[in-house]
Amino acid sequence: MKIEHIEVIEMEMPFDKGISKKDQVGFLNWGKLDFCLVKVETSSGITGWGDAFSFQCRRPVAEALKHMVIPRVIGKDALDVVNINSELQQALHLFGRYGITMFAISGLDIALWDIASKAAGLPLYQFLGASRIKNVPAYASLFRYEDPDCVGDRVDFAKNLGYEKIKLHEIGIDEVRAARNTAGEEALLMVDVNCPWTPEEARIMALKMKQFDIHWLEEPINPPEDFDSLAKLASDTGVPIAAGENACTAFEFKKMIRSGAVSFAQPSVAKVGGITEFRKIAALAEVFGTQLMPHSPYFGPGFLATLHLAQSIANPGWIERIFIEPEAALYPREIFDPVGGSFKVSNGIGLGFEPDLDVVKTYRLD
Ligand SMILES: [Mg+2]
Repeated sequence: MKIEHIEVIEMEMPFDKGISKKDQVGFLNWGKLDFCLVKVETSSGITGWGDAFSFQCRRPVAEALKHMVIPRVIGKDALDVVNINSELQQALHLFGRYGITMFAISGLDIALWDIASKAAGLPLYQFLGASRIKNVPAYASLFRYEDPDCVGDRVDFAKNLGYEKIKLHEIGIDEVRAARNTAGEEALLMVDVNCPWTPEEARIMALKMKQFDIHWLEEPINPPEDFDSLAKLASDTGVPIAAGENACTAFEFKKMIRSGAVSFAQPSVAKVGGITEFRKIAALAEVFGTQLMPHSPYFGPGFLATLHLAQSIANPGWIERIFIEPEAALYPREIFDPVGGSFKVSNGIGLGFEPDLDVVKTYRLD
C-alpha cells in the first residue's frame, strides 16, 4: 500500500472564550485556532488524517510538511509507520529536535496510524492493543482570563458541566484564590503558567500558590528545558510539577524524568513525534514511575489520537479539554464533551471519525 499523495490543509477558525467583559489583550488576544491537517492518500484507496501542532505557527509547519517531509515519503509503504517515523527523524535531525520539524513529522505519523488501523479494520485503540473501553477522566483546561471574577465564573461553569478536575492558566494569586473559593475544597485544581518565571520567582510563586492546595504547577520556569531548576523547585517547595508540552522525543523526556523535574509528564501527540513517539514516552513514564498526563488542547485528529492512545495505555492519566468553543466542529460536537467525567471513544475504524469536509471547505485558507 503506497503513499500516493499528501495534502496539507491549513485552516483558521475563530473560537469563543466564554467571556465578554475583558479587554482582548495579551493572552486574551488569541482568538483563532490554527489547524494544519495532513491528508494522506494511498494506492489502496484508504485515506488517513493527521494533525500537526500549528497554533500561531501554521504556515512554517505547513511549509516543513510540503518541502521537508512529504517529498521523503511519497511512494513508501504506508503501513511501515514506525520505520517512516524513524527515517524522517534521522533525515531531518539537523533542523531541530523540538519545534516545527517535529510538529510536521507528528502530523504525518498520526495520519499513517489512522491508515494502518483502517487497513486492519480496527479502531485505533484496538489496533494499539486494547479490547475494551475504560473511563479515562477528563479535566477542564480553562483559558487565561486575568480577572478573578471571570475565573470564578468559568470555574463555576466547569463544575456545572461535571468537571471535578480544573486547570487554570493564570499567573496571579488573586485568580487562583478565586478559583479555589469557587471550586470548593474537594475539587482538584491545577495551575498552568506557561514558563513565565526565573527559578527564584518560581519558588516565591509556588510557595504562595501552595496554600490553595494545587495538584500541580505546570511549566513555572523559563526556559522550559531547565530541568535541574524544575527539580530543585519541586524539592524546595514540595509543589508537584508538570511539564512536557514543550519537549519532543522520548530522549528529551528521559532527561526530564531522570532529573526529577516532574511528577507529571505531558507529551503532546501533535508535537512530540506523533503516536509513535508518544508510545515510547508512555512506556518511559511507566518505567520511571512518573504519571503520564497527555497535553491535548486539540479539536482535530490530534484529539482523537489522544483518546485512542489513552485507551491503549494502562495508566494514561487524564485527558485535557481546552475550555474554548470553536465556531465549527470537524467531528460530532458531543465527542468533545465528557459524559460522567470521561470522553467517549469511537468504535469506528482508524481514528473513528472523518473530518466534516464542509467545515474544512469553509475554514481552509487556500
Ligand atoms: Mg500547558
